[in-house]
Amino acid sequence: MLDLAIIGGGPAGLTAGLYATRGGLKDVIMFEMGMPGGQITQSSEIENYPGIFREEPHITGMELMESWPKQCMHFGLQHKMNEVLQVSKKGDIFTIKTDSETYEAKSVIVCTGSTPKRAGFKGEEEFFGKGVSTCATCDGFFYRDKEVAVLGGGDTALEEALYLANICSKVYLIHRRETFRAAPPTIKRAKANDKIEFVLNATIEEAYGSVMGLEGVKVDKEGEIIDLKVPGIFVFVGNNVNNKVLKQDDGSWLCNLNDYGEVVVDLKMRTSTKGLFAAGDMRIDAAKQVVCAAGDGAVAAMEALNYVQEHFND
Ligand code: FAD
Ligand code: NAP
Repeated sequence: MLDLAIIGGGPAGLTAGLYATRGGLKDVIMFEMGMPGGQITQSSEIENYPGIFREEPHITGMELMESWPKQCMHFGLQHKMNEVLQVSKKGDIFTIKTDSETYEAKSVIVCTGSTPKRAGFKGEEEFFGKGVSTCATCDGFFYRDKEVAVLGGGDTALEEALYLANICSKVYLIHRRETFRAAPPTIKRAKANDKIEFVLNATIEEAYGSVMGLEGVKVDKEGEIIDLKVPGIFVFVGNNVNNKVLKQDDGSWLCNLNDYGEVVVDLKMRTSTKGLFAAGDMRIDAAKQVVCAAGDGAVAAMEALNYVQEHFND
């Protein structure tokens, strides 16, 4: 019987493991189907995680995460390189079904992240991380005083376009329709911002560039091809939350999710199911940043520690 099972080994899961084991929980396993580190290891530059600043060349996501597993496992956290298929609960005990074995645990922290959707235009994958981005907070600064484009017509696209307008000289907002999904006040603010130029009824045909990175995007606006010479394009066309481990055999969910599949938590990362916590990018209102995911992991672990001590100690 594990004191705690952690599902996902990104910044949230690793930090949860560090706090849980250092805080005294025994038999804590972190299930991470790949190498621990999470999605930040795909990033070639990270300069907004405090304490690790380096000017050119910037710290890569891989470098940032290199020392985390060693530190986080120093106090007894175990890593199993398995995919978790399902977490369920009977009475007070959780069952964690993996691709090879089944485990039981007194508490669970789920931190499996979320994945930004791709739009599917030509060159999107080729220039991902070299001009194509899904994170304005992460990458906007690299385009300071330059022109960029944003793709999408939801709240994220319009809010991030406003964020980028504070940093960049101009933001082209490309959207495939004339009306938006975003909230009316957000649309109003974006329309009032003279740095944002709307390119509507338009789709991206192709992102192009060289080995040095993106040089522009070709946009089809009602049959006319427009060449936007931008070094950065931010794609905000929705997210897939990695929540499938919470799905039960009868189709219900182990805890409450919102309409977008994000796990509903309170300020202590408690879900609607006692003993189950969620942390990082998969929870509601996540800032989707490494520093925030790590913070969530710490809070969730401290709360799991309290829960196990209160419910299972004689
Ligand atoms: P993740 O890092 O997504 O980790 C989740 C982990 O769970 C993954 O390792 C996955 O393999 C594992 N997992 C999922 N399902 C299962 C399962 N069923 N069984 C077992 N394991 C599972 N943030 C910043 O702060 N600054 C930046 O500059 C920055 N740049 C970024 C650049 C890129 C290209 C990307 C993709 C992200 C960037 N981010 C940045 C965002 C940052 O990476 C995330 O906010 C952070 O990684 C979220 O951590 P997490 O632990 O919640 O989830
Ligand atoms: P979203 O609402 O699903 O919007 C995605 C946008 O991308 C839509 O405008 C869609 O166009 C467009 N799109 C989808 N696939 C595309 C493709 N392949 N090519 C080009 N465009 C494509 O996603 P989101 O903006 O990330 O928001 C997700 C949820 O979180 C929403 O419900 C949103 O309200 C919420 N959210 C809320 C806030 C807030 O309250 N402050 C902030 C951010 C997000 P169509 O419109 O034509 O489908």
